[in-house]
Amino acid sequence: MGSMKGKNTGRTLAGTRTGRSGRGKAGVAKGAVARTPFARPDWDEYFMDIAHVVARRGNCSRRRVAAVIVKDRRIVSTGYNGTPRGVRNCFEGGCARCAGSAPSGGDLGECVCSHAEENAITQAAYHGIALRGGALYCTLSPCLMCAKMIVNAGLVEVVYEKAYAFSETTRALLTEAGVRIRRLAR
Ligand SMILES: [Zn+2]
Ligand SMILES: [Zn+2]
Repeated sequence: MGSMKGKNTGRTLAGTRTGRSGRGKAGVAKGAVARTPFARPDWDEYFMDIAHVVARRGNCSRRRVAAVIVKDRRIVSTGYNGTPRGVRNCFEGGCARCAGSAPSGGDLGECVCSHAEENAITQAAYHGIALRGGALYCTLSPCLMCAKMIVNAGLVEVVYEKAYAFSETTRALLTEAGVRIRRLAR
């Protein structure tokens, strides 16, 4: 008795605290999360679900990844991976590296595909949207280059679903720079 089973509750995420307290007094113990009578995603699930929809637009032939940037529970930018604006889609041969026989994670210096996090950040720049204080949701953990961009864009939290070559260097950089990192495992 008394074990708090509810996941993703009470997080100090930038503007996305989950689990509303005080809703409906009847029968809800103090500190417990009121349950909805239907399947309602919490904020983490909501933004990550949207990231998965965004990922479907990815144009990379290797994998499809997405990032969603959130401030005060509002989506302010999204990005998926693929070749830069005006460049032939990766799946149409726009990226020689992806079209070639490079092993997964190999020849990345030759890859012209932009990463999802990179595109979410540059998309905000394109539209003149400040990201400072925001949180970034990504379907895969960020690489070192994207982590540097996340830090300098002023983002304060990264929520990722799957770890993909998530290096200690990347994790240490984010942590030292004061960016919180959470995994939304599901
Ligand atoms: Zn590609
Ligand atoms: Zn990256």
